Amino acid sequence: MSISNKHRPTTAELRALDAAHHLHPFTDHAALGAKGVRVIDRAEGVYLWDSEGKRLLDGMAGLWCVNVGYGRERLAQVAFETMRDLPYYNTFFQTTHAPAVELAAKIREVTPEGMELVFFACSGSEANDSMVKFVRYFWNLQGRPEKKIMISRNSGYHGVTLAAASLSGLTPMHPQFDLPLPGFEKVDAPYWFRDGGDLSPEEFGLKAAASLETKILELGAGNVAAFVAEPIQGAGGVIIPPATYWPEIQRICDKHDVLLVADEVICGFGRTGNWFGCDTFGIRPDIMTMAKGMSSGYQPISAVVLGGRVAAAIGGADEELSHGFTYSGHPVTAAVALENIRIIEEEDLVTRVREDIGPYLQQGLQSLADHPLIGEVRGIGLLGALELVADKATRSRFPADRSVGMICRDHCFGNGLVMRAVGDTMVVSPPLTISREEVDELVRLARTAFDLTARDLG
Ligand code: PLP
Repeated sequence: MSISNKHRPTTAELRALDAAHHLHPFTDHAALGAKGVRVIDRAEGVYLWDSEGKRLLDGMAGLWCVNVGYGRERLAQVAFETMRDLPYYNTFFQTTHAPAVELAAKIREVTPEGMELVFFACSGSEANDSMVKFVRYFWNLQGRPEKKIMISRNSGYHGVTLAAASLSGLTPMHPQFDLPLPGFEKVDAPYWFRDGGDLSPEEFGLKAAASLETKILELGAGNVAAFVAEPIQGAGGVIIPPATYWPEIQRICDKHDVLLVADEVICGFGRTGNWFGCDTFGIRPDIMTMAKGMSSGYQPISAVVLGGRVAAAIGGADEELSHGFTYSGHPVTAAVALENIRIIEEEDLVTRVREDIGPYLQQGLQSLADHPLIGEVRGIGLLGALELVADKATRSRFPADRSVGMICRDHCFGNGLVMRAVGDTMVVSPPLTISREEVDELVRLARTAFDLTARDLG
């Protein structure tokens, strides 16, 4: 089957073509069956509409990225004008253009003190892959080429390219592709609800951080290049570290001369109530990576930001940097990202998340804690997680083969709410523009989904 230019395809036609030709990311194609994929037609504010006219409240801002909400004319206008005036030019070989320069300066303005140089890529994965190369290059420039091992965490997610997937600690991502690559090690996640046992969150935060020091000593500090972590682990289930965790990680990295890399792909651009997760937790990173909220997903763009001695060494190296993408700092993506950041500034969305809508969402999510299925509610800013449990007192989970999270996620969709299931952890990350009424709706729809899930479990 093919579709002519004039004919607007029906949902059935799209599903048939999709089944025949489209290999989807992170999708079990065999399980799609006769029903086929969901076709999304349009979006506005915090809502999506599918091709059958069903409205969905997008509690995930797409894939944690549509920070300024859908339907921003300004971003479409800037994309149009830039595409008309300078649809493409590269930033290789001593060349630049205004959108890339202005965006680099703006990123510098909103990142923590000490961040200096901005390198552009097109996705979080590319940013993290580039970061691994910059870390290697830095230690080579320092005359310490043996410092090469990258340490990251179980349940961390850093993307899918070879190095980014090797950094990721979600184990199902590895066996299909013979990963991780050598030289990528893992330590514990600060996931108190799952692993904390009888320890207080504060005690457990120190224990999880200590697993980094143990690993560094085991490998030899002289061989360890960097520790890479999300301030809050997003795709691993919105794992919010206890207050003791980050100060101890910072101390360990400083003591052993290990670079600290913050993956801000989810936490960046206001989601935790500050510009970056590093601001929320007082982290002093050597390198940051960012994507998603940088353009609110309107264009594919990401960045690696180098600080302090890393910026000085790489920026000051007396040779050509042998790294870069055709689309590094692409004018259209850069112009849209810049306009997006201006919207975040003009509408003061970061303060709004910290002082108004973030606390309001957290209060709404906490109101679900009385539900028999909910073992813990946690969150910060506009990130939230609700743990589905078999027994609230012991925090014990349902058997994995019951797929309770998936049942709940399907009820959310059925009800008109997009929520994600990470195992049996339900997570939310709505646009930063969500209104109080829309938060109320989200909470109401989530409770209905929990009731229907409980009914199914019998
Ligand atoms: N890092 C983090 C923390 C992420 O959450 C993601 C994507 O979800 C990535 C990196 C990878 O980004 P991308 O999918 O743009 O390659």
